[in-house]
Amino acid sequence: MMRKPLIAGNWKLNKTINESQQLSRQLLESLGTVSNREIVIAPVFTALNAVSEIIKSSSILLAAQNCYPATTGAFTGELSPLFLQDAGCQYVIIGHSERRQLLHETNAFINQKLIGVIQAGLKPILCIGETLQQREDGQMLEILGQQIKEGLVDLTTDQMATVVIAYEPIWAIGTGKTASSEQAQEAHAYIRSLLQEIFNSSVAEQTRILYGGSVKPDNIDTLMAQTDIDGALVGGASLKAEDFVRIVRFL
Ligand code: PEP
Repeated sequence: MMRKPLIAGNWKLNKTINESQQLSRQLLESLGTVSNREIVIAPVFTALNAVSEIIKSSSILLAAQNCYPATTGAFTGELSPLFLQDAGCQYVIIGHSERRQLLHETNAFINQKLIGVIQAGLKPILCIGETLQQREDGQMLEILGQQIKEGLVDLTTDQMATVVIAYEPIWAIGTGKTASSEQAQEAHAYIRSLLQEIFNSSVAEQTRILYGGSVKPDNIDTLMAQTDIDGALVGGASLKAEDFVRIVRFL
């Protein structure tokens, strides 16, 4: 099965509403028509609706950077998948390492969010990845295994059709250190083998696994040449239209 490549830009806590609108317009102007790949951008919550208005009749899709696993109710300060859908989102990034580290999000909580996102008809991008210490201590496979198994617990094979996984080694995020394409391929192949073990070979074959961690215009082509790399989750380089467009146009 052919997996459609997906390039997602995670704008993190950057760009005001005005700046987000400006960047979205620049992307629309310079992207032109792009077929055979999916493009997703994830602005801050406050800019989601404004950006949605700009990109709604284009091929760029909208993602939120997080959500809370409820629908409505007494959850002060939170946003649920229902409200993200209302703001125009199709995707939600779940379990980003910054949230795992800074906000102590657990695999169990991430799993609840994932199920909430799918039940609301949105698609989750589940982020996983090891720290440098864990890699150096030889724990990489164990950590990835735990994040995948606990993060995807109770999901049906049908629900898995909507899930995108992003492998983001924490030591490569925002550091300028990219995993070599061989290191990334090794982790992606392992993640795919886990999907086969937990679900079945068709889930393993159909699930898109993105690489994230200092993806730039000058390393995207080699990363995308790897068999099990189906796209990228891009942080810093997604904030400049020129860089992001080049990444989307990987060879
Ligand atoms: C990210 O935020 O998911 C990320 C990979 O950031 P960067 O590309 O800046 O390393």
